[in-house]
Amino acid sequence: MEKKPFITKAQAEEIAKTYPTPFHIYDEAGIRANCEAVKKAFAWNKGFREYFAVKATPNPYIMQIIADYDFGFDCSSEAELVLSDAVGADGAHIMFSSNDTPACEYALAHKLGAIINLDDITHIPFLESIIGDKFPEVMSCRYNPGGVYTLSNGIMDNPGDSKYGMTKEQLFEAYKQMAARGVKKFGLHAFLASNTVTNEYYPKLAGELFELAREAHETLGIEFAFINLSGGVGVDYRPDQERNDIAAIGEGVRKVYEEILTPAGMGDTAIYAEMGRFMLAPYGALVTKAVHAKHIYKEYIGVDACAANLMRPAMYGAYHHITVLGKEDAPCDHKYDVTGSLCENNDKFAIDRMLPEIENGDYLFIHDAGAHGFAMGYNYNGRLWSAELLLRPDGSVKQIRRAQKLKDYFSTFDNTEFADKLLKD
Ligand SMILES: *Cc1c(COP(=O)(O)O)cnc(C)c1O
Repeated sequence: MEKKPFITKAQAEEIAKTYPTPFHIYDEAGIRANCEAVKKAFAWNKGFREYFAVKATPNPYIMQIIADYDFGFDCSSEAELVLSDAVGADGAHIMFSSNDTPACEYALAHKLGAIINLDDITHIPFLESIIGDKFPEVMSCRYNPGGVYTLSNGIMDNPGDSKYGMTKEQLFEAYKQMAARGVKKFGLHAFLASNTVTNEYYPKLAGELFELAREAHETLGIEFAFINLSGGVGVDYRPDQERNDIAAIGEGVRKVYEEILTPAGMGDTAIYAEMGRFMLAPYGALVTKAVHAKHIYKEYIGVDACAANLMRPAMYGAYHHITVLGKEDAPCDHKYDVTGSLCENNDKFAIDRMLPEIENGDYLFIHDAGAHGFAMGYNYNGRLWSAELLLRPDGSVKQIRRAQKLKDYFSTFDNTEFADKLLKD
């Protein structure tokens, strides 16, 4: 599908007068329209709730927008729990789906009344050592079926190699042990394939989890409050990919629900999701300016952002579409590597990419950076994080996180003999 930037060159120029490039910018209208589409797709299920995966875009202003739809937050760290609490989420709106969990984070999740989703059976005694034997009334477990996970277009992922979740045997044993500690209602969670661009993934996963929940219900006599389909619904990073249709995905899940759960007398089970990428990726972009053009054995365009601002291309070789603002209709007849300034040769936003001729000063709009974009930022080479901006539905722009300054980067040298020099403005 054609990829259109949500700002124009004129808007980028205007914004850059106040907030110099590079910056991340999010499209509030796009986020809201997508939240509504998700809500509508699962409206058939009375208890449906999306718990936005905070790690994708951990910004309280973005989280507030999502909270407007009565969605909650999926957390796996102390920072994410604190953010959820800060935007006013109550326990029912916080899912704590962590792994290799530190004790202090279980304590905080429990204090906030969050729904705790256990990654492993050994976490039952671990949790007991923190909160005692009075477990919450509703708790969840994460399942890992092992093997490889296939959909009709081939192997999607490799659960047998992944560190998450419990085997089926452990899952059933965990439910028994939790019931013995007072848990009244259960959740079942699995995340088996990442960034799927097919309407088939959620319905197939749902069918498997519904069968498993029915078996646990029938053999252990336990009640299920929810089935959590977790994340993994992906986005069309490449223009030749067909976008996921959330209405078709919701309808696919409804069909298997009525085939499996309704006849089993489990028709009051809520469906939960923990989408991150699908909720935010297309509605955020990294905007950066071309500052150098270098001609050696290849053609390079150097920009003022780097992998510290968006790590996915360097880390996974991920494709992010690039639009040169103002040159939307120009022919893509130049082949470039688009690079950042890190002393790492993988610091490239694009390799051998056909783009319009780029001049210094051109603004590049790097698409689909709204999830796992700013969030994965790091400070290698002492490169600083950019600002995060929100494009409001009325066209105005609000800064929702300022750019990092050198004194922020050096802040942990406070109380040292270098503080005077490093921490000045
Ligand atoms: C990362 C993560 C998600 C979100 O995944 P997306 O692919 O961004 O939708 C959801 N749940 C858990 C437990 C995760 O770790």
